[in-house]
Amino acid sequence: MSVDAGPLDASVPATANAEREVVATGLAFDVTALTASATITLGPSANPGATLEIGDLDITRVQSGGVDLEFADRGSTLDLGLPPSSAPVDVTITYGFHHHDLDDGAATAGYTLTWPYYCGNLFPCHSQPSDGTTFTLDVTGVPAGKTAVFPPSIPGQAPAYQVAWSIDSYTQLDLGTTDAGTLVSVWYRPGEQATAVAGTADLVGAFDWLERTFGPYQFGNHVGSVSVNWGPGAYGGMEHHPRWHIANIALGDEETNVHEASHGWFGDGIRLKCWEDFVLSEGTVSYLAGHILELQKPMLGAQVWASYQSQLSRVPGTSPVWPDSCGTVDVLRDNLFSIAPYLRGAFFYRAVALKIGADKLDHALATFYRQYAGKPARMSDMLTTIASDTGFDPTSCAQAWLRSTTIPAVGPCP
Ligand SMILES: [Zn+2]
Repeated sequence: MSVDAGPLDASVPATANAEREVVATGLAFDVTALTASATITLGPSANPGATLEIGDLDITRVQSGGVDLEFADRGSTLDLGLPPSSAPVDVTITYGFHHHDLDDGAATAGYTLTWPYYCGNLFPCHSQPSDGTTFTLDVTGVPAGKTAVFPPSIPGQAPAYQVAWSIDSYTQLDLGTTDAGTLVSVWYRPGEQATAVAGTADLVGAFDWLERTFGPYQFGNHVGSVSVNWGPGAYGGMEHHPRWHIANIALGDEETNVHEASHGWFGDGIRLKCWEDFVLSEGTVSYLAGHILELQKPMLGAQVWASYQSQLSRVPGTSPVWPDSCGTVDVLRDNLFSIAPYLRGAFFYRAVALKIGADKLDHALATFYRQYAGKPARMSDMLTTIASDTGFDPTSCAQAWLRSTTIPAVGPCP
């Protein structure tokens, strides 16, 4: 982080400037007082002002370099009175926040969940998945007898929805260390030890495979699965790297644990350029969970693929998977968040692997990661990389699996 060397003129009026990007985000929360401070490093801008999403936060003060800045709370956005600057500038925003129990902020039950675009209910942010920021995080005011599990820092560029905490009665169980030196743990709640051990039986091996196959992990050296009480009916997990969340009822499911771990490379490690590229995140990691478990534990891998196939048979062909636009689809309201991108995406990669060999596809995925790690990318970039890296052009196979309203038969690409 660095502060612009020039003196700040406190008389600059609050000005909208959506182009000024967020580079780093330092967060400190008191979860009892429901107060917080966010130190946001904003990028250089030839124009004055800055705009951040603030949901229903109550902004009390904005400072930069110890000087109060003018600001305007426009409802769900905040405009700042910043002069143009050729260097990054830090602003510290003091605010109050509110509980949100509809998967759109800090839940009363003790966890946070802001995917896809509810970060503004927790901290001033840019919610577009292409917009990457590093994080530091501190959580205080934790009730006696409970533990807040969260990453003190996220050193690589991450989408806003990646940062999270969960507060509960946790036990940390260290599972092992990968060859690259990453410590893999699981955090479980009372009564969950056996389930946690079963669900993470192959997690160190999976993480090691991801590091060796695709390249260095960007989000720290202590990772793992955190069992989170999302409440009845909530299954699956959320890619809150480096301490990803697993719904407590899915904790024992190896596929869910490996799926969330794989997001460290696809979805988080490489961000989505647009929500339309959702399949680049979920399709890729659903394939990887099946592929990795098949390599590590063939019988379990076969069960995962059989389960995917049985779920695929219930996917309506009309459910969107890979819309042909960028920045116009609302991932929730336009029904892109369904099982369709997960399964049709997984079977697209499966079809490519069956056509050319899974090891060749792994090589292409590694090439893709080297090119886009820390950056946003599109699903079309993935197809280009597969074609150039393997010599097999997957375009028509992708059309059939990701765009057609007729779901193809499972098998190799024609
Ligand atoms: Zn996922």
